[in-house]
Amino acid sequence: MSAHTCGRTSSSWKLLPVLSWEEEEELKAYESGRIAPPLSPFFAAVITDKKQISTLSKSLSMKYPFSAELRHVKRVRARASHLAILLRPVSPEDQVNLLNGNIDLYRQKDDGPKEAADFTPEMNFQVTEIVQGCGSDLRGLGEAFIVSVPSRAAKNQKEQQVWGSIWPCTYHAKPKTITMEEDVHGAARAEQEKLRIGRNMRVALEAAQLNQSRGQKGVGAVVVDQESGKVMAIGTDQTGVSGGPLLHACMVAIDLIAQKQGGGAYDGLPRILEGIRERVDEESENGVKPIEDEREKRKRLKDDAPYLCTGYEVYVTHEPCVMCAMALLHSRVSCVYYGCSSPGGALGTYYRLHCSPRLNHKFLVYRGVLEDECRPLLCGDEI
Ligand SMILES: [Zn+2]
Repeated sequence: MSAHTCGRTSSSWKLLPVLSWEEEEELKAYESGRIAPPLSPFFAAVITDKKQISTLSKSLSMKYPFSAELRHVKRVRARASHLAILLRPVSPEDQVNLLNGNIDLYRQKDDGPKEAADFTPEMNFQVTEIVQGCGSDLRGLGEAFIVSVPSRAAKNQKEQQVWGSIWPCTYHAKPKTITMEEDVHGAARAEQEKLRIGRNMRVALEAAQLNQSRGQKGVGAVVVDQESGKVMAIGTDQTGVSGGPLLHACMVAIDLIAQKQGGGAYDGLPRILEGIRERVDEESENGVKPIEDEREKRKRLKDDAPYLCTGYEVYVTHEPCVMCAMALLHSRVSCVYYGCSSPGGALGTYYRLHCSPRLNHKFLVYRGVLEDECRPLLCGDEI
């Protein structure tokens, strides 16, 4: 593969988060409307004077700041027909009073989350009864009503879409998941991330192709330091080598990292990184530091050197098997990106080890990176 094709900006592939079985089921239930997301009731009011939005937001935020759990909730909702603002949460005392008045706070469940509790005009709430002590700061407010808002932040982009149909919420992807999780402000960042991820996967792909051209299986794995963006190791499947039944690409890559840190179990592993250094140097913003430098750095930072792959991402052309997935887990990787699914794969297809509650380390997994390019390299007996 030539250098210029490696840097291309093709975006035909999609980055897909691999969630736990439970999260996926939950998400399907939210999307289909079978169950409502977790909700908290709030008093809200229509904004009749748009000019007052800023003042109203400020004074309500001062008097009724959202608790830490509700920081994802936006104060104001804009719809084509009206603007509305959250006044304050419905307290347990309010709930008792409302129940005494035969008002069912959760009646919106009957309407499905998309129609969640808009107006409840029969209640005739007075804003001044709900919000006390704000005085003239409450100018511009109209009819009050009760609305339910998502009581926890969305955990992923798909959930965020469901949440947003109920009440506007901010979505802060975890630092390691900024990747493709687009939000209003994040489209450009997401596109940049996609390029970066694609670029790293192309290194794995190239290694896999090189390996295949040498008569070995076409599987490649690349370890990247998330912070610096540097390629730290490249492994390819070496199971064809005599005495190497365990030498899947991920195992090789992890062992190369261990060797750089003074450990490792296998001698004579191919140093693919050296072989394609020119390409990697060209595409990596910072280039790749010579291995010797890294060794020196580790020596200097001996006391606070990372434990194996802590803070590292792994790019692998095919979904890892159980052995590799456990090795990645024990190495404390932060994120794994893979191209195409493998039969019996342990990070999505057959198992989802990365989110098992019974294991002591969890990491993020995304599939689908350059999937069409990775799939033809499968030879059918990968496990
Ligand atoms: Zn494996």
